[in-house]
Amino acid sequence: MKNLYDGDTYQDSLKKLKNASAMLKLEDWILDRLSIPHRTLIVNCPVKMDDGTVEVFSGYRVQHNNTLGPCKGGIRYHPDVDMGEVASLAMNMTWKCGLTELPFGGAKGGIAVDPYSLSQNELERLTRRYTAEILPLIGPSKDIPAPDMGTNSQVMAWVMDTYSMTEGFTTPAVVTGKPVIIGGTYGREEATGFGVAYVIENAFEYYKKKLQGSTVAIQGFGNVGSYLALKLEEMGCKIIAVSDHKGGVYNSQGIDITKLINHAHSNGTVSEFGKFDKINNKDLFTLDCDILIPAAISGVINRDNASDIKAQLIVEAANCPTTSEADEILGDMGILVIPDILANSGGVIVSYFEWVQGLQEYYWSKKAVLTELKKRMKKLFKKVSQFSVANKTDLRTAALMLGIQRVSEARKLRGVYP
Ligand code: NAD
Repeated sequence: MKNLYDGDTYQDSLKKLKNASAMLKLEDWILDRLSIPHRTLIVNCPVKMDDGTVEVFSGYRVQHNNTLGPCKGGIRYHPDVDMGEVASLAMNMTWKCGLTELPFGGAKGGIAVDPYSLSQNELERLTRRYTAEILPLIGPSKDIPAPDMGTNSQVMAWVMDTYSMTEGFTTPAVVTGKPVIIGGTYGREEATGFGVAYVIENAFEYYKKKLQGSTVAIQGFGNVGSYLALKLEEMGCKIIAVSDHKGGVYNSQGIDITKLINHAHSNGTVSEFGKFDKINNKDLFTLDCDILIPAAISGVINRDNASDIKAQLIVEAANCPTTSEADEILGDMGILVIPDILANSGGVIVSYFEWVQGLQEYYWSKKAVLTELKKRMKKLFKKVSQFSVANKTDLRTAALMLGIQRVSEARKLRGVYP
């Protein structure tokens, strides 16, 4: 078995898999299989730019595992996207779907592009071409993409339309995270951010701490970061710092999140908001606050900054924001980390609701979606925290063990084809 996937993020995901697998005493062949993706497609997409030139963009779709059901995972547009990163994010999706007991396997897609540098027309042409290139892999019962960093409901609408045009009929269940009017679900936009906030609420309840008045710093103010900030503000937290790819804002007295969202919509960034102090992405991580939430890119909590972190709770709204080296340092410092596959699983849970609604052509109310989400997040937090106590592990290892165990048990039952 030759592993063609490289990069720090992938190596780190492998390390986390091996650590959890050792505790589960997984059979070697299952660990071998889970260490590499099932299938990977590399595509190169020529796109006509608005000035008449043609640019070629590299993209990927990685299906890590489909043992539990069709593959599920977002599409990321970011300059740093590469095969190793997409593969590690796909692997993470497999564990997340196993942990949440959803009937999905794990996948991820991405294009190495700065989406903020493209016009809407260029973004649409790139999305349609990429979708056309990955058509052999996707479909409602094969692989169902969703939004991730740099993509949104409009991008999902173009993916859905391109797929539907080639099929000859409208196929809402091919993507999740699309606008409600074309078969999206109420609550999907809020789902990941609200889910993170529900997990924090559950954690404070579990550890018998008072959430109201807690200070919070958040990196990333896109879909996930903005909705979680809104919900935490509603729960009584004080959001004292927020940053994005252009800079950040800090106010020890708390930032009005609705006003910050309006500012970010008009200016494309949170920086320069009000008369508050500026803060850069580096300093945000070492701020004196109660809760630190990475909600943007991978690997931002690492050996260079882990020992300077002052927050007592880190909640991973982003995927893979903490390296294994940082995990060890944080563990020694007694800092609690709520891992990504638990913290941000509200997104895939509501994506599941959307997929089910699309297949049945029967749609739920927003109240029904968010009530069910809240219920599931509570159950999930309880399951992971109890498992971690019973097995004397941290929350990350517990969550990974639960996810990996479900996938490997299913694999054993299904056996090896032929
Ligand atoms: P988004 O594109 O809506 O927002 C991303 C935010 O991160 C923006 O504010 C952007 O400015 C900021 N950002 C980008 N590069 C940055 C950098 N180098 N430094 C600081 N900030 C930077 O993306 P999103 O959907 O909110 O996703 C954020 C994270 O949450 C990602 O890690 C994603 O994988 C994860 N996630 C998203 C969902 C979802 O439903 N969208 C679900 C689960 C996990």
